[in-house]
Amino acid sequence: MAALRRLYFLVRQKNFFEGPKRSSGKVMFQRVFALLLAVVLLPAADHAAAAVRVVATTTVVADLVRQVGGDRVVVESLMADGVDPHSYRATPRDADRLLRADLIVANGLHLEGKLAQLLDRLARRRPVVAVAEAVPEAKLLPIGNGLFDPHVWFDAALWSHCPAALAEALAKLDAAGAAEYRQRADAYAERLRQLDEQVRARLAGIPPSRRVLITAHDAFRYFGRAYGLEVVGVQGTSTESEAGLADMNRLVELVVSRRIPAVFVETSVADRNVTAVREGAAARGQPLTLGGRLYSDALGPPGSDGDTLERALRANVDTIVNALAGESATVTVAGEETR
Ligand SMILES: [Zn+2]
Repeated sequence: MAALRRLYFLVRQKNFFEGPKRSSGKVMFQRVFALLLAVVLLPAADHAAAAVRVVATTTVVADLVRQVGGDRVVVESLMADGVDPHSYRATPRDADRLLRADLIVANGLHLEGKLAQLLDRLARRRPVVAVAEAVPEAKLLPIGNGLFDPHVWFDAALWSHCPAALAEALAKLDAAGAAEYRQRADAYAERLRQLDEQVRARLAGIPPSRRVLITAHDAFRYFGRAYGLEVVGVQGTSTESEAGLADMNRLVELVVSRRIPAVFVETSVADRNVTAVREGAAARGQPLTLGGRLYSDALGPPGSDGDTLERALRANVDTIVNALAGESATVTVAGEETR
């Protein structure tokens, strides 16, 4: 597209065809020839404009690539919006897409549990960068067996560590764009730090006793730690673990004893466990509102209120504040009217 734009402006220049008054037929021929040459070379020039073809694993990671890569990068996400990365298995077509990429970008920290082996194998043939691994280890939450919670993106300050790592990976493949990648990464990291402050200020408006976020799975522990919410996932850190009956009873007890007003479902996780907790609470005489649907491990489709990480985080904060702070709101979730 950049090459097309350049050609458009070249042709628009007033005297490209007309030339200066003294231009001869020969000069005119040269100009037409130059134009034809530009058209013939256009596909190559356009490819040069988008210097790096990236395949990202999730929509969250693809968004990071877009923010840092700008026009120099073409990115596709292996998983579509609304897809759960913990249980995602690569198709044969995915393996082809990954092999054709100049760069593979993953979240890492075992978020893409079922893709780990494939990514390890591909790493011998293609450059692979796991962006979440740029977060300093001291800031990660251990989950046992030497592993860390991979859901770092909804703590905007933590995520601000990732753009620079991606910029360096892109710069290695496209030296001509290095300065641009670094500049874009810096600007994006700065936006994330500002967003971090805005989110903290907004969530501080929820009364302390109501700052409990019950969600379908443990995708919000960094978010909760950063912004002062107690976070309880019905399922564990991976959707691959099943919620047991004891977990359910413990949650219902928590809801009843703390008079928690609302619980949340997620765009990429089935609702059945959250529904079970609501039924349990209702049986104990404590109706539990469905607070809304949060973006967790996947962003929303293009044009939705969660089509970038920044927008998804803002949308989540709106949903949470509306449900927990007692602000009047009507949210429709899967045909069910809440509040
Ligand atoms: Zn998750």
